[in-house]
Amino acid sequence: MTHLKFSVLGIALCGWLALVTGAQAADDLVVYSARNEQLIKPLFDAYQKETGTHIKFLTGKEGPLLERLKAEGARTPADILMTVDAGNLWQAAQSGLLAKVDSKILNENIPAHLRDPEGQWYGLSVRARTIVYNTKKVKPADLSSYEALGDAKWQGRLCLRSSKKVYNQSMVAMMIAHNGEAKTEAVVKSWVKNLATTPFSDDDSLLAALAAGQCDVGIVNSYYFGRFKHKTPDAPVNIFWSNQASNGVHVNVSGAGVTQHAKHHDAAVKFIEWLSSDKAQSLFADANLEFPANPKVAAAPLVASWGPFKQDTINLAEAGKLQGKAVMLMDRAGYK
Ligand code: FE
Repeated sequence: MTHLKFSVLGIALCGWLALVTGAQAADDLVVYSARNEQLIKPLFDAYQKETGTHIKFLTGKEGPLLERLKAEGARTPADILMTVDAGNLWQAAQSGLLAKVDSKILNENIPAHLRDPEGQWYGLSVRARTIVYNTKKVKPADLSSYEALGDAKWQGRLCLRSSKKVYNQSMVAMMIAHNGEAKTEAVVKSWVKNLATTPFSDDDSLLAALAAGQCDVGIVNSYYFGRFKHKTPDAPVNIFWSNQASNGVHVNVSGAGVTQHAKHHDAAVKFIEWLSSDKAQSLFADANLEFPANPKVAAAPLVASWGPFKQDTINLAEAGKLQGKAVMLMDRAGYK
């Protein structure tokens, strides 16, 4: 047991030392990232080439990364936290892990609804969580809104991802912000009644089930749809922009914030500003088939081919504020 403990500690220490030692120059930055290496490394390399600033990074799952930041407190080597979903960014801010930043550049480049009103986090790429359908069984004219997926005509035809995923928690939180709790609960109950099968653990499985005809409609993040179509262009699945006649598609972000205990606060702000700039935005968004958060920057051709849409412009901080209510509501509604 003791031996095992030592080994685990040894591994943890090795990881730690690899991160913080070495010839760390005064202006080196350290990033904790829930976005994986293949998505962020090209950006870090480009920034180093342009500015000379070297960026060290640690990747991990959103939850453990937040826990690590909390546990390290003032001793953390992290200057920046990069993670996905406003729900997670909000949690980090709420836990006192992020510093307030007031940047004219960021306020200009990033639309107000995609960043924290307090300046503790900024969305850098946008994903739409919207309706997907089997083109052999459904016509776009049959579709309109998230709410309408609870209509009786979809009985036994709807697929959803698990309510445990933060993406769905944020989406339902935003529905509460628009429609209130009572109406949202009725909608979620009507979805549960229409389910074709038990909720999936991920969006990829949902898309495969949709293509296979196990269900006719579902809700996924746009980049999963993009990847799916990239891999299987002939699959009978298409994307539909939901709620265009009302409040717009639910969008979310992957984003970043400067840590509360950053040793290089100003350099960290500069780097996030650079990430919001024209040249970095394409790199940041295209790598994951997302939309640039900066509206002046065009999406990649495949992503742009899905057509323009109206997005929900309620501030994404609401997704965090109402997350607890959303979780309890989904539980009451029997959405597993
Ligand atoms: Fe994802």
